[in-house]
Amino acid sequence: MKSNQTSGTLLSTLLQSNGGAPLIIGGPCSAETEEQVLETARRIKASGKVQVYRSGIWKPRTRPNSFEGVGTDGLRWLQQVKEMTGMPVATEVANVRHVAEALEFGIDILWIGARTSVNPFSVQEIADALAGTDVTVMVKNPINPDLALWIGAIERLAKAGIKDLGAIHRGFSTDSKMAYRNAPKWKIAMNFRKEMPEIPMVCDPSHIAGRRDVLQEISQKALDLGMHGLMIESHINPDAAWSDAKQQITPEVLASLISSLDLKKNGIFASGLHSPEEELLDELRSEMDNLDHELLELLSNRAKVSGKLGAFAPQGQLQGVHNERDKVLMGNLVRKALAEGLEENFIQSIFAVLNEYSVKGQEA
Ligand code: PEP
Ligand code: MN
Repeated sequence: MKSNQTSGTLLSTLLQSNGGAPLIIGGPCSAETEEQVLETARRIKASGKVQVYRSGIWKPRTRPNSFEGVGTDGLRWLQQVKEMTGMPVATEVANVRHVAEALEFGIDILWIGARTSVNPFSVQEIADALAGTDVTVMVKNPINPDLALWIGAIERLAKAGIKDLGAIHRGFSTDSKMAYRNAPKWKIAMNFRKEMPEIPMVCDPSHIAGRRDVLQEISQKALDLGMHGLMIESHINPDAAWSDAKQQITPEVLASLISSLDLKKNGIFASGLHSPEEELLDELRSEMDNLDHELLELLSNRAKVSGKLGAFAPQGQLQGVHNERDKVLMGNLVRKALAEGLEENFIQSIFAVLNEYSVKGQEA
């Protein structure tokens, strides 16, 4: 196994040499072809905005029969990226074989993905395989919102003697309808920082967002909270990417996103902890945002069901036309609303508007 030349304190060196600006890790979700990996790297390097090149080689996919990564070939391409650009390179490892191969090819930063950090057995095996090396390891938050599991993964690596450790906040799986692909749950990331202030944290807006148009706002928010950097997926032809196509951006778009970020509030190495009032306000705003999205989903479902009902209604008996059944239903709703602490007038006017909309939809 080759020992790693540049690592050991790679993360802290990168952070300090960056003059207080956030550390940017960029590159494709997956290595696909040699040309795609090298061309992405060339354009990323030319932008001058990215310090570390990332690419997945072994891809954990939710369903089988999706593209599962190019494997060892990709490690050779990452080696070429390193030679060509001088940038440190990063890839995901999920088992002992991945670790051995990545170290063999001199990969500078290994990261443990969200589907692996969730499993202490896997993390322990990886930690054991890494013992005695000076490679840099970053741990993504587990897919479920469990702070202890995230911290536990870092502790397992630290116990194995890994000194250069970092955390990646990539959001959490949720079944509720959300503005984003993964719920950021900023509070968990901030609590991680409180418990492990010595561990630098970068945010991965790509996997939180799941789409391009909100990458900037998530990146800005992460920096406002005092995170040390960003990991953002970038592809030369995002729409044609073999994985995570919707969330990838070209190297040039990535560069302008980075330029657009306001670093004023950031103060890198700042504690990142806001006052309790600010934290509460933030939490309430994001809860409101989620509720509004859920409300929209419900309204859309209601309109669809109402449309289907309309097809059954005999002439003149469309929903919302006040017949006996409607009056009973409205009475039930008002009783429930009162029990929930809502005002009768408020509920009656909302349902009047909803019913009017339904009738219009059914007549259309
Ligand atoms: C990735 O970085 O491409 C990836 C698979 O991430 P995550 O583990 O956060 O889903
Ligand atoms: Mn991805």
